[in-house]
Amino acid sequence: MNILQEARNQVLQQIEQACQLAGRPQQSVELLAVSKTHPAEMLREMYTTGQRSFGENYLQEALEKIEALADLEIEWHFIGHVQRNKTKHLASSFAWVHGVDRLIIAERLSSQREASQAPLNICLQVNIDAQDTKDGCQPNEVADLVAQISALPNLRLRGLMVIPAPNNPQAFADAKALFEHVKAQHAKPEDWDTLSMGMSGDMVDAIAAGSTMVRVGTALFGARDYSQQ
Ligand SMILES: *Cc1c(COP(=O)(O)O)cnc(C)c1O
Repeated sequence: MNILQEARNQVLQQIEQACQLAGRPQQSVELLAVSKTHPAEMLREMYTTGQRSFGENYLQEALEKIEALADLEIEWHFIGHVQRNKTKHLASSFAWVHGVDRLIIAERLSSQREASQAPLNICLQVNIDAQDTKDGCQPNEVADLVAQISALPNLRLRGLMVIPAPNNPQAFADAKALFEHVKAQHAKPEDWDTLSMGMSGDMVDAIAAGSTMVRVGTALFGARDYSQQ
């Protein structure tokens, strides 16, 4: 068995165990393979193990891989910070954008997504643990943003995305509570189905708290080498 297959099996096994412990079905958690910094050929190899959804952080790098792997049926997720002047390519080339945290970004994605394409899936990024960062809206802004973004055409607002600081399981619990709070007030609760949280180091805690999508890079592909960038 090759090394990527082995790594993926181990991650899937971890997900399965975490689901069992939490009394959840394994299919309730999706594995997103975070492939930033890794070459297209490595993604191609990971694809042969059955992996279909891949997450990228850097637009230019992602667009090159999307082109190189156009013969594969990959579902591309953008999980990096969304800059206002980069929305056009995100709208045309991705299936999901996780890092939406302002109305203007969602409006641009909505108007730049072709109506002939499937709606662009969106997660609203929330700064759930009050980190000193510009990324993510504040928890008290979520209700208004959900109402506003849900009204835009060519998008499907699916849920929340969080990147809490390490070793803070309370942040996962807070994200889950906020997710459920929105769902309870949502006009179409079945459309609000995604809680994107958990990475290589904390996916078990994230699943225990209710994550439906873990974004895993290092545990699948090994350590990243940014010097090659
Ligand atoms: C890089 C990245 C990940 C993957 O992190 P690992 O620790 O390598 O699993 C997940 N989410 C986001 C937003 C990232 O930028």
